[in-house]
Amino acid sequence: MFSGDDIVYLKGVGPSRAKVLAAELGIHTVGDLLEYFPFRHIDRSQQSTIATLNEDSGYVVLRGTVSNMQTASIGKYRERLTVDFSDGTGSLQLVWFQGTKWVRDKLKPNVKYIIMGRPTVFNGQWQMTHPELETDMASDSSRQPYLPVYSTTEKMKSSGLGTRAMARLTETLVGCIAGIEETLPQEVLSQYHLLSRHEALKAIHYPDSLAQLDAARTRLKFEELFFMQLDYQYSRTVRQQHSEGRIFGHVGNLFNSFYNEHLPFPLTGAQKRVIREVREDMRSGHQMNRLLQGDVGSGKTLVALMCMLIALDNGSQAALMAPTEILATQHYNTFLRMLEGMDIGVELLIGSVRAAEKKKMKARIASGETKIVIGTHALIEDDVLFADLGLVVIDEQHRFGVEQRSKLWNKSVPPPHVLVMTATPIPRTLAMTVYGDLDCSVIDELPPGRHPVRTFHRTEPRRPLVFHFLKQQIDAGRQVYIVYPLIHESEKLDIRDLEDGLEMVQSYFPRPQYATSMVHGQLSAEEKDFEMRRFKEGKTHIMVATTVIEVGVDVPNATVMVIENAERFGLSQLHQLRGRVGRGAEQSYCILMTKDNLSGSSLERIRTMCSTTDGFLIAEADLRLRGPGDMQGLQQSGMLDLKLASIVDDEPLVAATRNTVQDILAADPTLSRFPLLQRHIEHSKNKMLWGKIS
Ligand code: ADP
Ligand code: MG
Repeated sequence: MFSGDDIVYLKGVGPSRAKVLAAELGIHTVGDLLEYFPFRHIDRSQQSTIATLNEDSGYVVLRGTVSNMQTASIGKYRERLTVDFSDGTGSLQLVWFQGTKWVRDKLKPNVKYIIMGRPTVFNGQWQMTHPELETDMASDSSRQPYLPVYSTTEKMKSSGLGTRAMARLTETLVGCIAGIEETLPQEVLSQYHLLSRHEALKAIHYPDSLAQLDAARTRLKFEELFFMQLDYQYSRTVRQQHSEGRIFGHVGNLFNSFYNEHLPFPLTGAQKRVIREVREDMRSGHQMNRLLQGDVGSGKTLVALMCMLIALDNGSQAALMAPTEILATQHYNTFLRMLEGMDIGVELLIGSVRAAEKKKMKARIASGETKIVIGTHALIEDDVLFADLGLVVIDEQHRFGVEQRSKLWNKSVPPPHVLVMTATPIPRTLAMTVYGDLDCSVIDELPPGRHPVRTFHRTEPRRPLVFHFLKQQIDAGRQVYIVYPLIHESEKLDIRDLEDGLEMVQSYFPRPQYATSMVHGQLSAEEKDFEMRRFKEGKTHIMVATTVIEVGVDVPNATVMVIENAERFGLSQLHQLRGRVGRGAEQSYCILMTKDNLSGSSLERIRTMCSTTDGFLIAEADLRLRGPGDMQGLQQSGMLDLKLASIVDDEPLVAATRNTVQDILAADPTLSRFPLLQRHIEHSKNKMLWGKIS
């Protein structure tokens, strides 16, 4: 058989199983099945005996005979089937709740069976529910030393496609598959001593030895990572070669007079470095596509503003897009304040601007009178036309979909330079992989004079002390946040949590002496804005909120962040929330309230938060605890497509593939010597178009 053949023609499949395979696992061809990898193997030589079972045995293989079959009905239509299984060292009860008829017909006394599964103790006796079962034929065990174990779904099991059935299919398949094409260049195979694709695909299902299994996995992981690198790096090469960029050749009056006369404080070294990097990009003749990572409070806004001035100095307009109206408005005010006394048209374009005013604004943007536009999604509407948009800055980039971002990209020809900013740091290893298509800048230095936020973990019994502390802070003129988690499944419940919380807070902090704001997702934009503004202007002391305040809000006078049910937040979210305080000159505090006995990764997260304020360390911990799939902003990045390799655990392979691809592209940018790789690129071109500005 060949890998493109329809799975229905594989011996043992047939139309109905083919349907199940397609629906449950997306397997349509024999090639798809070949690439459905087992998640583990059972070593047949390591057979267990019932006498030696213990709580930690896990998945075991036993060999023995059955007796004493009994059925009992449960409810009207269901029954429970139990069978005694013994192997000469002891006995164990097998239990079925489903497919009982089929099992009853199949099991025979005095026949040797192999059973596989996870034994548990029930009423003092060993038991195994829904074991995998097959007749033990002598030839069977001599054939394959390792049995593959596949994950299967309930639907598959009830169609007779449990892991053993799957294993029989793959066994048939590896016996008859021909002509599996090699995908990696020969020189790469020899350089890294990799198995051929054909050998690897056979061995990952049915290895002769653990060493061979390991080699197979390495080869297939290498391939996965190699092609991911190739996609990213190739599109970057193409961009650098072909994408025409505006040339912003000089730094002019606006930049210089801002730098010399308006800068409110000296730039940090990191800010200077990033501005230099952006300047180099913008005069290179290629379109800039740069990611700026900087921890919360590191001063990205100022960097954005100064880069925008360079665009203006070269006769272009610049735009800044933020994910919320609150943020856009805040940026707008910052810009007005910083640019005071300079004659620069700055405009705020957000949804809540009245239609008549919006129309005039758009006219000014189209005529080029407005130089800097700050806004929300409203910026990307089709009727917002620029005279000459030269630079786009996107704040908190993970909040925008790829499609939205690429719309801004298309607002001018040649396309504007793009700077995307994020305060959700991505560990270096990951950034180089995921953002292979982007150049990265990092602000790794906070402005001087900041006191790191002090973080404490507290539980319910100590709430009075926590509130007492809040009172002291408020009485000293500060403000505080109290944040509740938001769980999407039940927004109603969240609001109730929040309202209960509010009630408790207000009874402890009575009006009129203390004023409280409340913000949550069910308020309208205006209501939210109103509450936020009151807090920002110092008219309220306490902000009780769900995580809607998480991003970017800047209230320097707020010094305490209390996070309720902190164990329910992810690390990067906790870090973002904590970043809302510690923005002024005063010492700030973050208090993580949790239930009593935390364990496992919740405890680990809380401990991490209490031990460091370094966003990169936190991101590394987050990655370790949750894996890259759950990390904010990576959902659309394609990272989730990895079947075998792990960005975290296979770092050496990640580095090896990155370097190999780099070398190949450096020596042969068009891949003329590598027709196979060219074919792959052709194939994934569509996908890459979307990934262009991530
Ligand atoms: P973020 O990177 O989180 O967007 P901001 O741009 O909001 O951070 O900056 C946080 C605060 O730091 C702002 O109040 C800003 O005015 C201030 N800031 C920025 N750069 C400097 C600097 N070089 N020195 C002192 N304060 C700075
Ligand atoms: Mg910001």
